[in-house]
Amino acid sequence: MTMPLRQSLTMGTYLFRQKIKRRDKFPLLVELEPLFACNLGCAGCGKIQHPADQLRRRMPVADAVAAMEECGAPMVSIAGGEPLMHPQIDEMVNELLARKKYVYLCTNALLVRKWWHKFDFQPSHRFAFTVHIDGLKERHDLSVNQEGVFEEAVAAVRWLKERGFRVTTNTTVFNTDTPQTVIDVLNYLNDDLEVDQMMVSPAYAYAKAPDQEHFLGVAETRELFTKAFAGGNRKRWRLNHSPMFLDFLEGKTDFGCTAWGIPSYSLFGWQRPCYLMSDGYAKTYAELVETTDWEAYGRGRDPRCANCMAHCGYEPSAVLATTSSLRESLRAMRG
Ligand code: SF4
Ligand code: SF4
Repeated sequence: MTMPLRQSLTMGTYLFRQKIKRRDKFPLLVELEPLFACNLGCAGCGKIQHPADQLRRRMPVADAVAAMEECGAPMVSIAGGEPLMHPQIDEMVNELLARKKYVYLCTNALLVRKWWHKFDFQPSHRFAFTVHIDGLKERHDLSVNQEGVFEEAVAAVRWLKERGFRVTTNTTVFNTDTPQTVIDVLNYLNDDLEVDQMMVSPAYAYAKAPDQEHFLGVAETRELFTKAFAGGNRKRWRLNHSPMFLDFLEGKTDFGCTAWGIPSYSLFGWQRPCYLMSDGYAKTYAELVETTDWEAYGRGRDPRCANCMAHCGYEPSAVLATTSSLRESLRAMRG
């Protein structure tokens, strides 16, 4: 992944250690979901449809820390739901930072300024807020089903940056997007808002999502990103993805799914096989790796994977392909 130098060195050392230990399946980053509740109701969301008793649950900090220690991943992305609705979210972040994890805190940003007095977050090169911004004002507010969310998210990004925090963004792309809507939002985030880094993700067709009509197919995804990345945009934008994953989005290369590389740990345990699909849960990462038939998943193997080009399945494939090639390793270092 194109990431700050210190983080790249940590990742390189981690990957080298896995090789020495001859560990053939290991996590690069954990998608941690310490709650499912959210203060928004996005049409494409597959997380907020749990029954009310599950939406009220909050993961104890000790469980999150124990899961990260057991699996050994160097990076964690805390999502949900809306993590800022978890009353010990700052404690969870600080405990993970104390264990030298790189922490991305995903948020829709509505509670950043409103509840800041409740939190004890400090800037760190290991810590970034990841703000969900799907498009410019009209497009984003439509995507999250609420007016005014874009303006608050932008205000929160500026506010956090003024206080010295790293701020990244995550933009989910649907078939209502065009190359130009993607260009418009990424130009804005890169040049006007000047966020540290940006992630893009083709939306996954969650079976539970209320809106089932607006997910992209593989051919549409490739065409859209090829056009959006043209004219030097891909090189100019500070995208938080490896060059080979960006090639994959454009259809210049293809990979099998490596879902064990970005596993998901939620209130139910380690989710099989990935953040997007749930075929049961394991108590530990070791159990997840040993008891999952990984060969059964991915495009061409499971019909639910047919349109998936999500980073949780394919970014680890891209990272592993990069590290096994000197030429690709040098290209990734150049960014
Ligand atoms: S902000 Fe995220 S968790 Fe909340 S409804 Fe939207 S997609 Fe789901
Ligand atoms: S292709 Fe991989 S990441 Fe995508 S839904 Fe299937 S198992 Fe999950």
